[in-house]
Amino acid sequence: MTTEELISNSNRYIMNTYSRLPVVLVRGEGVHVWDSDGKEYLDFLAGIAVCGLGHANPSVSGAICKQAETLMHVSNIYHIEPQIRLAALLVENSFADKAFFCNSGAEANEAAIKLARKYAHENMDEERYRIVTMKDSFHGRTLATVAATGQEKFQKGFDPLPTGFGYVPFDDLASLERAVAEDTCAVMVEVIQGEGGIKVPADGYLEGVRKICDDRRILLILDEVQTGMGRTGDLFAYEASGAKPDIMTLAKALGNGFPVGAMLATDKVAASFTPGSHATTFGGNPLAMAAGISVMDELLHGGVLDNSRKMGVYFREKLDELKANHAFIKEVRGRGLMLGMELSIGGADIVNGCMNKGLLMNCTCDNVLRFVPPLIITKEDIDRAVDILDEVMRNL
Ligand SMILES: *Cc1c(COP(=O)(O)O)cnc(C)c1O
Repeated sequence: MTTEELISNSNRYIMNTYSRLPVVLVRGEGVHVWDSDGKEYLDFLAGIAVCGLGHANPSVSGAICKQAETLMHVSNIYHIEPQIRLAALLVENSFADKAFFCNSGAEANEAAIKLARKYAHENMDEERYRIVTMKDSFHGRTLATVAATGQEKFQKGFDPLPTGFGYVPFDDLASLERAVAEDTCAVMVEVIQGEGGIKVPADGYLEGVRKICDDRRILLILDEVQTGMGRTGDLFAYEASGAKPDIMTLAKALGNGFPVGAMLATDKVAASFTPGSHATTFGGNPLAMAAGISVMDELLHGGVLDNSRKMGVYFREKLDELKANHAFIKEVRGRGLMLGMELSIGGADIVNGCMNKGLLMNCTCDNVLRFVPPLIITKEDIDRAVDILDEVMRNL
C-alpha cells in the first residue's frame, strides 16, 4: 500500500481519537525512525518518553524474543519467575517493598487509587477517601484517572465521573495544606508535570508535600509514569529530593515500548491488598516482565543514567542558546532528558516544520515544545536536532 492509501485506511478503520500527523513510521533503530517512504527522522519524542533505551534495543528485543519462545503467558494464579525478578529489581532499587504489575500508566494509577482508599478504610480513624491532586496534572484516561487529572478538557462529556478527588495548584504548598481535610486519604502528584507542560516545582516542594502528608497522617502517591526509569537523570525522579512516597506508579519507559505498568508501595500500605482485592489478566505476564528486566539491567549497568544526566545538561545549554536567538522562546525548563520550551506562540508549526526536516518531538498545552529523546542520545544527535530547530524557527 502507498502511504496515501495507508493513511486513508487509517482514517476509515480507526476511531478518530487522535489528530495524527500524516506519516506512517515503520522501522526504528536507536534514536532514528523511518517512515513508509523511507525517510529518516531523529526521534526526540521516543513514543512520548517510552523508548528510553532507543528503538529496537538489542538487549530488550532479544529478551522479548527469547521469552516469547519460552513462555508468554500463564496466569497470576501461579508464581511467575520473571515477575519475581522484576519485582525484586524495582524494590531493591527504590523506596518500595512490594510491586503490583499491570499494563499501562492509567492502570497503575487506578491500582494506586484503589490501594490508597483500601488502606484508608482499614487504617484511618475517620471516613477518608478523598485524594488531592494537582491542577494541570495528568494521570490517565480511565474514568477514575480522568477524575484524578486536574484538567477539565479531559473530563468534559464523561460525567458522572467517580467522586473523591480535589485539585490544588501545583507547586503551592499553602493551597495543598488548606485542601487536606477530614475526608482526605492521600495526595497524588507528578514529580515534574509532563502533559501539563514540563513544569518543575521549586526546590523543596516534594519535601513539603511529604511533610504535609506526614503531619496529617495521609499517604503520598507519586505518579512517575513519565518521570521514572532514568528520564530525569535518576532512576526515579523522587531520588533528587529528600522525600520518598508511600506509593509510586510507573509505566511508559518500563518496557521500552512493550506495554508494562507497575504500582509500588511500602509493606505497610501494600498490606491492604489481599487475595481478591485487585487483579489483572495480563499484568506481570512473562513476556512483559522480560522486557522490564532487560530495561532495568540496562539502566543499572549500562551507563545510561549517567548519559541521561550529561546529555540533559548539554541539551539544555543548547536550548538556552536558542532562547537567546529567538524572542518567542519564553522559557526552557525540565530535568535530565525531560525538557520543555515554552513559547509565546503556538508550537504546531514548529513541530510540523521539524518533522518535515527530519526531527520528531511534540507540543503540549499548545505552546510547550516537549523533548523526551532516548536516554542514549549523543552530543551529535543533539547538535543535529538543535540545528533543525534553529533553522525551522528562523524560517517561521
Ligand atoms: C502517560 C501518563 C499516564 C498515562 O499512562 P497510559 O499508559 O497512557 O495509561 C499517567 N500519568 C502520567 C504522568 C503520564 O505521563
